[in-house]
Amino acid sequence: MRILVYIDIANGKIKKATHEVISYGADLAAATGDSLIGVAIGSCQDKLEELGSYGLTEVIHLGKEIEQNAPTEVNAWAISALASEMKAKTLLFSHSLSGKLLAPLTAARLKAGIVTGVVSQPELNNGFCVKKSVFSGKAFAKIAIKTELRVLTISPNSYPVKQVSGNAAVSTKAFTAAQSRIRTIKAEKTSGALSLTEAEVVVSAGRGLKGPENWGMVEELAGELNAALACTRPVADAHWRPHHEHVGQTGVAIAPNLYVAIGISGAIQHLAGVNRSKVIVVINKDPEAPFFKAADYGIVGDAFEVIPQLTAALKKVKAS
Ligand SMILES: Cc1cc2nc3c(=O)[nH]c(=O)nc-3n(C[C@H](O)[C@H](O)[C@H](O)COP(=O)(O)OP(=O)(O)OC[C@H]3O[C@@H](n4cnc5c(N)ncnc54)[C@H](O)[C@@H]3O)c2cc1C
Repeated sequence: MRILVYIDIANGKIKKATHEVISYGADLAAATGDSLIGVAIGSCQDKLEELGSYGLTEVIHLGKEIEQNAPTEVNAWAISALASEMKAKTLLFSHSLSGKLLAPLTAARLKAGIVTGVVSQPELNNGFCVKKSVFSGKAFAKIAIKTELRVLTISPNSYPVKQVSGNAAVSTKAFTAAQSRIRTIKAEKTSGALSLTEAEVVVSAGRGLKGPENWGMVEELAGELNAALACTRPVADAHWRPHHEHVGQTGVAIAPNLYVAIGISGAIQHLAGVNRSKVIVVINKDPEAPFFKAADYGIVGDAFEVIPQLTAALKKVKAS
């Protein structure tokens, strides 16, 4: 039996969430006795062989035949065709933007059971039962997959990356893409800004900042931390910040190593999109703000005093 891992590539770079999914797949393969194979699509500047250091021994590269920016359904067809050919029983994706799009399309094509946002290894003693978080991270559900084929998306920051020694063997494979029923007319990318979902550090601000004219100090702090910018929904709704920066239940879900929340109350809908961050720092003038309960570090204080001091301290540390 085989386990297929989708190697998530964006702009020629392997996304860091892929390393977690490979580690997850390697542990699953060790438990089931299956072999683990990676599937990559499109051109990649990073060395696919180096994925061996996360436990992948084989990578099939569909790079030459289909374009990375092909419509998602074309990539899903390629992955499902490969899965059928390889007789793969389990397909693993990251719960990233592309994984969330690809996994259901692939599962539908393979008539496979799918569970998204998985947070731990499956229980295998009585079938195949996986755990996922539900109700915006307030509870967990255990779901048994009864189908022969299964597709899982793994929640970012839920599985430790394990490094081993060795290289993966990379081979290319021909795939003739069928004509897609979807045509991209125009793709507009935001320029300059760090990708919110990929950033290691995110600096986010809410209504406590009072107005868009005060974002300069937030941008300066983000610059010192090499961080992406985020905001709460009311901030985006009021057009203080662009909608693509809105994080939470109805916005982008992120899982950076460090999340700095400034003037944000910590409503459950906001937490739903950021509670997978490794370390959360909250800056709020109200000591009773609910966000402090989810924080690893908290500063009770006025953002207009704290942020410039924090930025100045960072500059001083960097200069020394
Ligand atoms: C169905 C639904 C979905 C939603 N989805 C989302 C979502 O995806 N993302 C999201 O963010 N929200 C979402 N919301 C809205 C959410 O419920 C909250 O209303 C919102 O997150 C609050 O935003 P905020 O923290 O910026 O503002 P507020 O709740 O107004 O909080 C502002 C905070 O700033 C602090 N503050 C004020 N002045 C200062 C100062 N000078 N220095 C420091 N701190 C200060 C205050 O103490 C307060 O805690 C959703 C709501 C619903 C009903």
